[in-house]
Amino acid sequence: MNIKVVKFGGTSMANKDAIERVKNIINSDPDRRFVVVSAPGKRFKGDEKITDLLLASYEEKKSTGSCHIFFSKVRDRFIEIVNDFSLKLDINKYLDEIEKNIDQSNSPDYAASRGEYLSALVMSEILGFEFVDAANIIKFNKKGSFDASYTNDLVSSRLSMDKGAVIPGFYGTMPDGSIKTFTRGGSDFTGSIIARGVQADVYENWTDVDGFMTADPRIVDNPHIIDFLSYEELRELSYMGASVLHPSSIFPLQSTSIPINVRNTFNPSAVGTFILKDTSDKKTSLITGIAGRTGFTTFFIRKALMNNEIGFCRKILSIFEYYDISIEHMPTGIDTMSLIVPNDHLTDGLEFEIIEKIRGEVNPDVIFVYKNIALIAIVGHGMSNQTGTAARVFTALAAANINVKMIDQGSSEINIIVGVNGEDLNRAIAAIYHEFF
Ligand code: ADP
Ligand code: ASP
Ligand code: MG
Repeated sequence: MNIKVVKFGGTSMANKDAIERVKNIINSDPDRRFVVVSAPGKRFKGDEKITDLLLASYEEKKSTGSCHIFFSKVRDRFIEIVNDFSLKLDINKYLDEIEKNIDQSNSPDYAASRGEYLSALVMSEILGFEFVDAANIIKFNKKGSFDASYTNDLVSSRLSMDKGAVIPGFYGTMPDGSIKTFTRGGSDFTGSIIARGVQADVYENWTDVDGFMTADPRIVDNPHIIDFLSYEELRELSYMGASVLHPSSIFPLQSTSIPINVRNTFNPSAVGTFILKDTSDKKTSLITGIAGRTGFTTFFIRKALMNNEIGFCRKILSIFEYYDISIEHMPTGIDTMSLIVPNDHLTDGLEFEIIEKIRGEVNPDVIFVYKNIALIAIVGHGMSNQTGTAARVFTALAAANINVKMIDQGSSEINIIVGVNGEDLNRAIAAIYHEFF
């Protein structure tokens, strides 16, 4: 018998119809024994996600002392699901306790995590599977970093059963027992952690699209589904904005070769995308996918004979280190250097302080800052032995009248990163997409 870990996202848990599908998918294959669930998501365009309502509940309690108004919306949604499935679960008991705890809490994480907690409780009732709380098996260390090896030991011993279990996604606990969540979309990461812990044969990630696509379907109409993607390509694409999988999803799997299969709850006959450690024996196209996001700042520096000045880079980098700012990319030329940093590492006006420091330290001929940069990653193993890909990207962007702010061919040779103005992001992705697909 194989072991399949299955994770169902927010849309798959949103209402009766979707949960009914989830139930059928699980019941149709006895290998699907470990189930990770997200909090219920949007039921229709404009609807609210449970996680957002819970975060709003916490904000409400912070400003008024009680989370009652927003929490009532959470309450209504779970009561509706419990009634739809005629469950015996005393959901009000859980809801009352959670409401009370949110009113007494002083961190948003507890509140944010309760959507997954309740969703898993409900799902375990529906399936007749055991409920295993992530709080007991997913652990962070004192510094708040995920503790992979401790977690792995706990997961493998706790889930060594033959029957099915449902585990809430998105959270774990600190050494003092308090709840801590991953970043948004983190239930995908929980699924990978469980897949590694139980040594699954496959990790099925069920969502609301037919697979991982060559570009964001909200930007490009009907992008192709990618049949095979490598772990490495997944990392590049999800980090750069392909939000279908959380960017940390591959970390727990790196020491394994467990495939991730991205599939559609609403079209289970589609085979979806297989994400494999190694895709070198698969037929691949030049480019596997494109993804991008806004939110970056570029520092551009020019100085004649920069390359002869020993220690130039070190001096610049130590300034960024001093301000605790991580650098995403650092394309350099003979006399030029750009440093790309995430906006959220720059507090208001900090860029001017940094410019002054750089001037004092290396006396550049030119230095300026672009604040509103979007980065686009063009990713694929197929590029590594092909010339001319960057030229095609440029030509496509020039034809669409898009100004390129920087370009960086990653040293891994599986990606090209292009920087454009934030407002050009979607047009640029579409232009590159149509050049290659
Ligand atoms: P879930 O709630 O199941 O975790 P998400 O909303 O997190 O689902 O992720 C699925 C969504 O990701 C899709 O509906 C799609 O709009 C978006 N998306 C962005 N980039 C891509 C891509 N490259 N391929 C597929 N979907 C993408
Ligand atoms: N419910 C969480 C979120 O909305 C986690 C997840 O869905 O993966 O971010
Ligand atoms: Mg998601």
